[in-house]
Amino acid sequence: MRAVIMNKPFEMEVGHWETPQPGVGQVKVSVRAAGICAGDMYFYLGKNPYAVYPQVCGHEIAGIITEVGPAVTDLEPGMPVVVEPFIGCGQCYPCRVGKSNCCVNLQIIGVHIPGGYAEYVIAPATHIHRIPAGLSLSSASFAEPVAIGVQGCRRGQVSAGEDVLILGCGPIGLALIEVAKARGANVLAADISPHRLETAARFGAETFLVKDNFMQTILNRTNGEGVPVVMEATGSPQAMEQSVDLVAAGGRIVILGLVKQGVTVNLPGLDFTRKEMTIVGSRASVNCFPAALQLLADGSITYPQIATEFSLWDAPQVFANLAEHPGKIDKGVLVIN
Ligand SMILES: [Zn+2]
Ligand SMILES: [Zn+2]
Repeated sequence: MRAVIMNKPFEMEVGHWETPQPGVGQVKVSVRAAGICAGDMYFYLGKNPYAVYPQVCGHEIAGIITEVGPAVTDLEPGMPVVVEPFIGCGQCYPCRVGKSNCCVNLQIIGVHIPGGYAEYVIAPATHIHRIPAGLSLSSASFAEPVAIGVQGCRRGQVSAGEDVLILGCGPIGLALIEVAKARGANVLAADISPHRLETAARFGAETFLVKDNFMQTILNRTNGEGVPVVMEATGSPQAMEQSVDLVAAGGRIVILGLVKQGVTVNLPGLDFTRKEMTIVGSRASVNCFPAALQLLADGSITYPQIATEFSLWDAPQVFANLAEHPGKIDKGVLVIN
C-alpha cells in the first residue's frame, strides 16, 4: 500500500509499505482523515524519545472499515469509524484498575506500531468507535484530541457554573476550552500568544494575555479568591508553579502539559495543607472516545472548523513547512479523497 514513511528525523517520503491484514479480533480501516498532532511533529523533529524509525505516524484516525478479522462480531465493512490509538497490555496495575492510558507497556498506534498516514491501518476491534450520523470523517478525526479534553475535565471534575482557568491555548488547551464550556463552566484562558488567544476567544473563553501582572489580574477577576479549577496545558515548569498560586483554596489543579524529562517543578510545601488543593495529572484518555464523538456530533465542539486540510500524499512538504513555521496553522488534517 501507499504510505507516508518517516525514515528518520526530517526525512519523510511517500512510499510502499506492506499492506497489513487483520488478525483475530482486529479490524482493517481504509484511512480517510488523519490529524497532525504535536506528537507527530516531535517524531519528525527527532524529539520523541520512543521513536523507532522507519515508522508510519498518525494517531488521530478516521476511515471506513474494509475488512474484519476472525472473532469480530459487531463491526462490518462499510462502517465509518475512528481509531482509539492507545493500547494497554491488560496485565499491569494501571490496566487492571481501568487506567490503561497509564499502562507501563503502552503501545500507541502511530508511534510504536504503524499509524494512519497510510491507505490502511489495523486496530483491535475494542479500539474502534462508530462515527455518529451526520459527522464527517475529517471532523471525526478530532475525536482523539477532544478525548484528551474530556479526560482532563473528568480528572478536574469540572462542573457547571464554576470558573475554570486554562493555561495554554495550543491544541490541548483549545480542546479543554470547548469541553469545559460544554460542561457549563465559565472558561478563562491564558497564553503568551495574542494569536492563540484570538482563537480561544472564538471558542467562547474569556482571554488573558500572560504578561507581568497576569497573576494579579486573575486574582482581581476572582475577587482575590483564585480560580476553583486550574488546568495546565503548556508544559512549562513556571506555569505549573504558578498554578499553585492561581488556584483557590480547596480547588483543583489538573496537569496535562508535558515537562521535559529531568526538569523539576518547585512547589511551595505549606500551600498543600493551607489550601488543601487537589493536584492531579491527566494523560491521553481512557473511555473518553464515545463522549468526544458525541460532543463533536451535537455541535458542542467547533474545533474542526479551524483546521486546514491537506492531501495525505503532500505530507512530506506539509511537515517540512510546519517544521520551519510552527505557528502557521492552528491545526492540520491530512485527508485521502
Ligand atoms: Zn494527538
Ligand atoms: Zn498495562
